Amino acid sequence: MNIDYLITVETKDSLCTDIQGFKNLLKANSSISITNRTIVYRKENVLVRANYTLKYSKISADEIFFYFKLKFESDDDTREIRELIHKLKNNIIPRINPNKTKLDIIWNDIETKYSIQSYPIINNVENLMRKLIILFMTINVGKEWTIKNLSNSISQKVAKNELKTNDIYKIDFIQINDVLFKKYADLDVGNNLRNVVKKIDSNELVDKTEIINELSPFIPKSNWERYFENKVDYSGIELSKAWKKLYDLRNKVAHNRGIDKSDFEDIKTISGKITKAISNAIKNVFEIQLTDDEKLNVVVNIGSELNRLNAKYRVTSPKNSVPIMKLLKYHKPTSEHELCLLIENHITEKCECGVKSKGTVEDFGKTLYEKQIDEWGEYKFSLEDCIKFEYDLFIRQTLRHSKNVGYK
Ligand SMILES: [Zn+2]
Repeated sequence: MNIDYLITVETKDSLCTDIQGFKNLLKANSSISITNRTIVYRKENVLVRANYTLKYSKISADEIFFYFKLKFESDDDTREIRELIHKLKNNIIPRINPNKTKLDIIWNDIETKYSIQSYPIINNVENLMRKLIILFMTINVGKEWTIKNLSNSISQKVAKNELKTNDIYKIDFIQINDVLFKKYADLDVGNNLRNVVKKIDSNELVDKTEIINELSPFIPKSNWERYFENKVDYSGIELSKAWKKLYDLRNKVAHNRGIDKSDFEDIKTISGKITKAISNAIKNVFEIQLTDDEKLNVVVNIGSELNRLNAKYRVTSPKNSVPIMKLLKYHKPTSEHELCLLIENHITEKCECGVKSKGTVEDFGKTLYEKQIDEWGEYKFSLEDCIKFEYDLFIRQTLRHSKNVGYK
């Protein structure tokens, strides 16, 4: 088991400026003894032995470096070994020249070991999460939900990967978080709250329960809180916290930032808790039945704001726009341009496919653009954004989807 330190030191005021000085500094610690090739660390009755290599050189007139490599006899990272590593890093080496010493651990077998062991644990949790989401969404929204309802950013990711496996597997850790833990209200405050206040003011609402019923839809709740919490007995807030913590640790592993034993223990504990909760949720997912309003709310609240607006006002429902899949199956367009022309031609021309289009993609973009006023009382997105959104949805995603399911 190896650990390599690279230490750069400013020579001015430095405690040691050569190899002997470095050794003396180590020896100054009463629990460390050092011979020509071996360093021994004593903690009560336990001895830790490591062979070491120590190199030293001048970088410039006022800067030197030490390369200090430890090769431990033991392959286990015992408590004592971890203690020695910690002491070297935090107490001993920085003393060479306080605040003017830069220490890089350029190799660490302990961290590598933990990263390797962490990976399958985290991967397993991620897959379980995905399984839950795909079950929940497919049962309640339908099999095409990923294509139709995910935010643009996810669609773009899907597009870039261009994999044929299930779309859910391209949805990453933090996006999973959104589906399960993002809070949303059933009713927007906007005019709705004003109406409730009016009702209270005019004594139309006097009963406490009635008032609570009228106000509850304004309280934001996540899908977990709505549909799983009472069945699984795990608070959404706690689970969401655990999930975020695991996400941070996962990034540490993924980006090689080095994890230690306590990180690894955290990963095991957190993963254990999440696994239990999610497995339980999976067992219960088939019993969840959403009303049509709830289904719409689930869909509407996943993804980008434009996506939500689009879903909420059914701007692109086949009835309000064009039954795009029918058009696709019948005419089998091969390019974006061709599909655009098809939509346009079906506005006026009577075609034997039976499809009638309510407008061009641009028109749908304009409709979406105007719906912003109904929803927010202002334009948050430009007309160009809205047209681009509809273009992505109708043209790009449709064509991509048709390739995947083999319409052509
Ligand atoms: Zn046609």
